[in-house]
Amino acid sequence: MSVAIIGGGWAGLAAAVTLAEQQVPVTLFESAAQLGGRARRVAINGLSLDNGQHILIGAYHETLRLLNQVGVDFERACFGPALRLQVEPAFRLQAASLPAPWHLGLGLLRSHGISLREKFSAMRFLLALNRMRFHVSPELSVSTLLSQQNQSINLNAFLWHPLCLAALNTPPENASAQIFINVLRDAFFAARDDSRLLLPQIDLGALFPDAATRYLNSNRGNLHCNRRIQHIDMHHGAFTLHHAQGTDTFSHVVCALPSFRVSALLGHIPAMQAITAELSTWHYQPIYTIYLQYDAEVQLPFPLLGLSQTMSQWVIDRVLTQQPGLLAVIISAQGAHEKLSHEALALHVQNELRQTLGINAIPHWTQVIAEKRATFSCTPNLQRPQNQTPVPGLFLAGDYTISDYPATLEAAIRSGVNSARLVLHNLARL
Ligand SMILES: Cc1cc2nc3c(=O)[nH]c(=O)nc-3n(C[C@H](O)[C@H](O)[C@H](O)COP(=O)(O)OP(=O)(O)OC[C@H]3O[C@@H](n4cnc5c(N)ncnc54)[C@H](O)[C@@H]3O)c2cc1C
Repeated sequence: MSVAIIGGGWAGLAAAVTLAEQQVPVTLFESAAQLGGRARRVAINGLSLDNGQHILIGAYHETLRLLNQVGVDFERACFGPALRLQVEPAFRLQAASLPAPWHLGLGLLRSHGISLREKFSAMRFLLALNRMRFHVSPELSVSTLLSQQNQSINLNAFLWHPLCLAALNTPPENASAQIFINVLRDAFFAARDDSRLLLPQIDLGALFPDAATRYLNSNRGNLHCNRRIQHIDMHHGAFTLHHAQGTDTFSHVVCALPSFRVSALLGHIPAMQAITAELSTWHYQPIYTIYLQYDAEVQLPFPLLGLSQTMSQWVIDRVLTQQPGLLAVIISAQGAHEKLSHEALALHVQNELRQTLGINAIPHWTQVIAEKRATFSCTPNLQRPQNQTPVPGLFLAGDYTISDYPATLEAAIRSGVNSARLVLHNLARL
């Protein structure tokens, strides 16, 4: 009775922590030199940065629970005031001190940058979703839903499109309306705190992977970085994992790879071929993070600003992570920016910050990190696989498995926890 986890991203770590909590010995194999996967620490110019600036929301209950379990006080680790959205050049929304969803309703009424008519139209849209119990046709795209609900160009530009890109990393015309409204439901309709935008004040490695490592080390966990699993054999219900250092055999395997790596490892198993064939049809979307290091005096009026009518979508002030003068600009999903060289893109972003925010200083250095396959395209009617597979003892975990949520930290954590619970259920029956 032994459990292997392949992949040390947030899903694999969540599975490992959940199993270790129940005193199940786990062995985790990660091909990279460090844990964290698509949400990891990177070292640049002597600074601890992230491979991509991440934003969490208060509705990430499972993520926040797990952070707590491994000893991270997220209230201290993250900056997370009540919802405040500032999208340049004109839109300002601040949640009111009322229970959900009235905090948003009154916030919308008091917002700046949209007309009274648009405020009521946005509220009518949210009320219509509530009446529909947050269910729409799985075929519907976000753009179609917004046009059916008569949302104006302004509302789309300042509110719905930025939220769609930030949450689903997919252009609204291709994005699943159902997944989008799941996020709106959880963020705006359940509890006021769920709509908070949480910005980590420590790097992503410190936020979860480091703490998960400490937890696993003190709970019989075995972690191996730099150990790529090259092949899996199945004999008499056991799984033999092949890697450069030899082989290891396990009774259960949680495969916590990114969706685009699953076919290479599991595609030879006949019972897995329907799943791997489906995954091989998926498309992916990039996320670019552009770091610009200015003089320490350069500071944003608020640590998170949205930009509209520009290539740059969000700007985060890394003064939060004790890195004064460092700004991180996020560009989600496909677009013209992909055609620019990194130097040209950094210069373009620098010019946009000058024009929109009046930052005239010249950065000391810039760094573009392009994650080309940051997330799957969250398109309508995507057939996401279950955690349980047709192969007894083999489970899938990752942000791409079936979920209410798009590819996010919360989807990854929920998936990891769920796959571990299935293993525990299975072990209890052995
Ligand atoms: C730039 C960027 C910005 C993002 N911003 C946000 C955000 O603001 N908010 C949010 O919620 N989400 C965000 N996301 C999404 C979030 O990071 C992912 O959904 C999440 O990290 C996925 O975790 P995972 O464990 O499912 O997969 P992964 O992180 O991909 O983990 C899989 C792991 O498997 C390892 N591996 C691969 N092959 C092998 C092998 N053969 N053997 C062993 N190990 C292997 C990989 O190295 C990796 O560590 C962002 C993603 C990116 C890239």
